[in-house]
Amino acid sequence: MSSNHDTHDTIVAIATAHGVSSISIIRLSGGAALSIAQKISRKQTIPPREALLTSLYNSNDELIDQAILIYFASPKSFTGEDVVEFQCHGGMVVAQEILDSATVLGARLAEPGEFSKRAFFNGKIDLTKAEATAKLIEAKSVDAAKILARQLKGELKEFIDTSRDALLHSLAYSEVMIDYAQEDIPDDILESLSVQLETLERQMQNIVESSHRRRGLIEGFRVAIVGKPNVGKSSLLNALLSYDRAIVSDIAGTTRDTIEEQVRIGSHIIRLVDTAGIREARDTIERIGIERSISSFEDADIIIALFDGSLVYDSEDEQIVTLLRESHDKQIIVAINKSDLPSQLQSEALAEFNPIEVSATMNFQRLTERLRNLLDDVGQGEELMLISAHQIEAVSKTQASIKSAKRPLHDGELEFFSYHLQDAVKHISSISKPYDSEEILDAMFSEFCLGK
Ligand code: GDP
Repeated sequence: MSSNHDTHDTIVAIATAHGVSSISIIRLSGGAALSIAQKISRKQTIPPREALLTSLYNSNDELIDQAILIYFASPKSFTGEDVVEFQCHGGMVVAQEILDSATVLGARLAEPGEFSKRAFFNGKIDLTKAEATAKLIEAKSVDAAKILARQLKGELKEFIDTSRDALLHSLAYSEVMIDYAQEDIPDDILESLSVQLETLERQMQNIVESSHRRRGLIEGFRVAIVGKPNVGKSSLLNALLSYDRAIVSDIAGTTRDTIEEQVRIGSHIIRLVDTAGIREARDTIERIGIERSISSFEDADIIIALFDGSLVYDSEDEQIVTLLRESHDKQIIVAINKSDLPSQLQSEALAEFNPIEVSATMNFQRLTERLRNLLDDVGQGEELMLISAHQIEAVSKTQASIKSAKRPLHDGELEFFSYHLQDAVKHISSISKPYDSEEILDAMFSEFCLGK
């Protein structure tokens, strides 16, 4: 990782949120942390891991605050360096004074994430924990916070380590057997390698699939409202937006076509996609075309497909149904709108989706209930979850490499088998920490004795 700064200098930051609060925490980390704290507190001796109530002084020798000071001696600290935390009175004035005093005494302001970066470089946290920390701060649901907390405890790291060990064992066997004549290799070894890899591959595929399905727990589920023109998409959008708007500002996407808005449903925040397209259409005679509606399918985790209950089922409805049938990776809610009008829609085709009847303009409570149940369900379950695109990509690539390794293993082409396994190890390792293949292989080989 590149940094313009010397990683041994001492950094300082206010760790609590800006604004009025009962206490603020200022964190110092680095070689000079203790001496800076000694000067600010005028205490010669600061015992580690004790909450020390002390006076604090600024660089003009004026008393700033009575505060708690805790010193964590290296390496037993969050960053692995000497760390001092000041718990001072809240509000920005006192915290800012302490920050200023620390910088006058030689600390520099930390960059975002720099404490965690140091923790990573000093081997205190691995990348899975660093990522979980970052995501926890932005989590969009209570369920997400729970999943991230488990990851912080090391759940993902454990899976990664176990998988990597299994791959390395297979690799080590293969490397040793390369020198054997084919007929000397016991069949049961090849068979057991194959079974083990098969299990690993399936496990990874399940994790990738369920992580995709649940990614909205962290980022907010992307919800698209689709349906033919005039079915009531923009009426429903407006109804949802006035339901419980989570954050007032729109999230502008890269193009103005992808403006999203957020709404709170139960303990979840959903992101309504393509709201620009739906809104624009409301004010023009030209209603949002079915193609545009269909294109928002791709970006969504959840589809709300609307049908007009007051009209007969037609070919445009059929087009939507066909797409729904093909959307295996999405959660689908089918709603028959305009339930306040006499019903005309009789389609067997919709029955398979267990449709609900709503009225976007009068009563859409059934829809928010269905949505909430669906979101709650996704949040349940103890499966392991990958929380970032980087993690998903790494596990997918690992899985692909394992898949490619199967044929050469079957054909007894062990060089090729090893080649793909090395790729698999490299990909899985990139999740928790970069690795040096030679080094780990050496370590593994030392445990082996296949008669060599
Ligand atoms: P969109 O083209 O899919 O965005 O459809 P709109 O939301 O603009 O709705 C088309 C028309 O249907 C408008 O005149 C709405 O007022 C009307 N509409 C929407 N939902 C309902 C409903 O639940 N009941 C009734 N009676 N009319 C509705």
